[in-house]
Amino acid sequence: MSNPRPIYLEEHEAFRASVRHFVEKSILPHYEHFTEERMIDRSVWLEAGSLGLLGLHVPEEYGGQDAGDYRFTAIVHEELAKVSVGMSSSFGIHFDTVAPYLIELGTPEQKARWLPGFADGSKITAIAMTEPGGGSDLGALRTTATETSEGWVLNGSKTFITNGYRADLTVVAARTGTGKASRSISLFAVEDGMAGFTRGRKLDKVGQPECDTAELFFTDLELPRTSLIGELGRGFIHMMERLPQERLFGAITNLAHAADILLETIEYAKERKAFGQAIGSFQHNRFLLAELVTTVDVAQAFLDQCILAHVNGALTPVQAAKAKWWTAQVQNDVLDACVQMYGGYGYMREYRVARAWMDARVTKIWAGSNEIMKELIGRDLGL
Ligand SMILES: Cc1cc2nc3c(=O)[nH]c(=O)nc-3n(C[C@H](O)[C@H](O)[C@H](O)COP(=O)(O)OP(=O)(O)OC[C@H]3O[C@@H](n4cnc5c(N)ncnc54)[C@H](O)[C@@H]3O)c2cc1C
Repeated sequence: MSNPRPIYLEEHEAFRASVRHFVEKSILPHYEHFTEERMIDRSVWLEAGSLGLLGLHVPEEYGGQDAGDYRFTAIVHEELAKVSVGMSSSFGIHFDTVAPYLIELGTPEQKARWLPGFADGSKITAIAMTEPGGGSDLGALRTTATETSEGWVLNGSKTFITNGYRADLTVVAARTGTGKASRSISLFAVEDGMAGFTRGRKLDKVGQPECDTAELFFTDLELPRTSLIGELGRGFIHMMERLPQERLFGAITNLAHAADILLETIEYAKERKAFGQAIGSFQHNRFLLAELVTTVDVAQAFLDQCILAHVNGALTPVQAAKAKWWTAQVQNDVLDACVQMYGGYGYMREYRVARAWMDARVTKIWAGSNEIMKELIGRDLGL
């Protein structure tokens, strides 16, 4: 698609080259293995950590890079998304979604305990908001944390948790009071091996087989006082404040993923012949590909504005919602058209386009569905 993108400077592109090298050397050759295991090997996490990709925004004193510029994060997502949505999602939940909870809300003791392992890849993380009873209505969650003289006792369950099967540390949202969600939900760190913490099987998803997505169960799980993340009763607000970044990350991944498959499809359309000519040379297909490239470029222009706004601390929840639902829609429309262009091969799992199509379906559902994004935008219109 259109290049170069003016939001990126020389230093960003140099960083991109190093991320690409890591992807080509350490991820692509093992991708099939990860899909068979339904999990990314820990060795790759450790390598990503040693290259500084996981601790991009972790302060240096805790072993991170303190990059202070979200464009570096965006580049990691873009390069991982070229492998698959799942790759960007699994790593991104860790280094992008969970990071601000630990870095911005953690006490000095919590940071010293968790962040070095977070940055070097030895402590993989997850975030657990969604429950079997519902994900869109986050304020209605039912997992409870009851206060005791020692700390809290956690009871309940979560589902669809990315990295959930293997995470060493999971940020869990639980109810600590009654009444309005904005005052009655808190966040807790649940660590691997705690008595009363069990995990279900790796869930059998339609796409993204390389990600471990799991159910989590908490049964009379005793949490020490030091496991509370942020302020007691303000967990819902803490999440609302950080969801725009998670939605921006989703949007970056959606578009980079779609753009990469579209480029591949354009090449296919030049080579595949029917009726004695390249299928891309039929006016229908030529116009269709022209429309799809335009759609991606126009979406990219808005998304790049959002990335820059976030770099400047000015991204609004509504901008992030627009970026997320629109790119999810564009991605799904583009990939459906790409599958069509590949004909029968587009329906074969061994083809990248088929896998991409299956991987992408969830982006209209997770991290706030397209309907919920439109609710946020609509409410902002005063409707
Ligand atoms: C692969 C995968 C990975 C995930 N990873 C994580 C994770 O790491 N952590 C985590 O906490 N969650 C995760 N999720 C959960 C995800 O965020 C939820 O699935 C999502 O928020 C929707 O919740 P739900 O599935 O309960 O659907 P529901 O909330 O039951 O919604 C069902 C349908 O109703 C629609 N709907 C609901 N409310 C409204 C409304 N007001 N107006 C119009 N339509 C509405 C929804 O848009 C949806 O189409 C993941 C999900 C998947 C599939």
